[in-house]
Amino acid sequence: MIRFQRVSKIYPDGTKAVHNLNFTIEKGEFFVLIGPSGSGKTTTLKMINRLIDLSEGTIFIQGKKASDYDIHELRWNIGYVLQQIALFPHMTIAENIAIVPELKKWKQEKIKKRIDELLEMVGLDPATYRDRKPHELSGGQQQRIGVIRALAANPDIILMDEPFSALDPISREKLQDDILTLQRQINKTIVFVTHDMHEALKLGDRICVMQHAEVVQIDAPEQLIQHPVNAFVKNFVRSGNGHYEHECIEDLLAWMKPAAAEAKTVSSHTTIQEALALLADEDAVAVEKDGEIVGTMTRQVLVKYLASRIGERQFQ
Ligand code: ADP
Repeated sequence: MIRFQRVSKIYPDGTKAVHNLNFTIEKGEFFVLIGPSGSGKTTTLKMINRLIDLSEGTIFIQGKKASDYDIHELRWNIGYVLQQIALFPHMTIAENIAIVPELKKWKQEKIKKRIDELLEMVGLDPATYRDRKPHELSGGQQQRIGVIRALAANPDIILMDEPFSALDPISREKLQDDILTLQRQINKTIVFVTHDMHEALKLGDRICVMQHAEVVQIDAPEQLIQHPVNAFVKNFVRSGNGHYEHECIEDLLAWMKPAAAEAKTVSSHTTIQEALALLADEDAVAVEKDGEIVGTMTRQVLVKYLASRIGERQFQ
């Protein structure tokens, strides 16, 4: 879907922002770029929609070089959400959402329908919100509009640059949940920049860890936790995270899904470390305690639990 081939960027002042990126983001994937400030995440993201030119290499989007697309066609077909909510203050919510559909010359009827559909998708009543101005919405609601505006013209790809980092923890959790639900419904390819590991583990199908302008590791959350390639990734992912080889999944009973028959059954004394290894192959295992199945442990629950242990640690 999006392929980076030997991509580097050197800014005119000589700063090497990214060096030799080689990876492919699959269609429908939630791909998270994470790393310390200045590691090259935003530069990587903005090269996809050509807000920043490459110095070397090629980016392919759906098999075609990004540089060969008509720039408008490219930008209109790639949604973009920024940290700073960039709604136009004098336009209504509906007008803000309609910008790209208008540029694409959609029929008014279709635009109106789309606006209502999107507002409903993020739990905002269209009749109440469509004619309001941005300042009549809370920060979290405005950011929600920022997200649906990026979806308005149905782009295949959505780029998100720390879209939730300016929000309070509750709005942030809520929007993370929303975006996960949306992703499942609409199956878009999302490239998401964050420096918050908790967020990355919660959202990413795969996480790309960057450091000093280079990719250090690209893996699924459970792989990153279980098999960090070096001390940097290990410390980042695990710090404050306890000892998985000693703790057993019995402590996670409250997190588990209801008891159900699964292909594999494990004891509640299985360590978290062992459970992680098992759940790399199985989506879910039944958990047995004193001869009874007491719950179902899924990969998602385990990763969520581990993410909660990390908390909102920011590694700068
Ligand atoms: P991140 O998103 O991980 O914080 P960036 O991609 O923004 O990292 O920046 C990577 C490096 O490139 C940093 O050293 C940053 O200072 C530098 N940089 C970013 N934009 C420019 C620019 N326009 N001119 C020169 N250097 C830049």
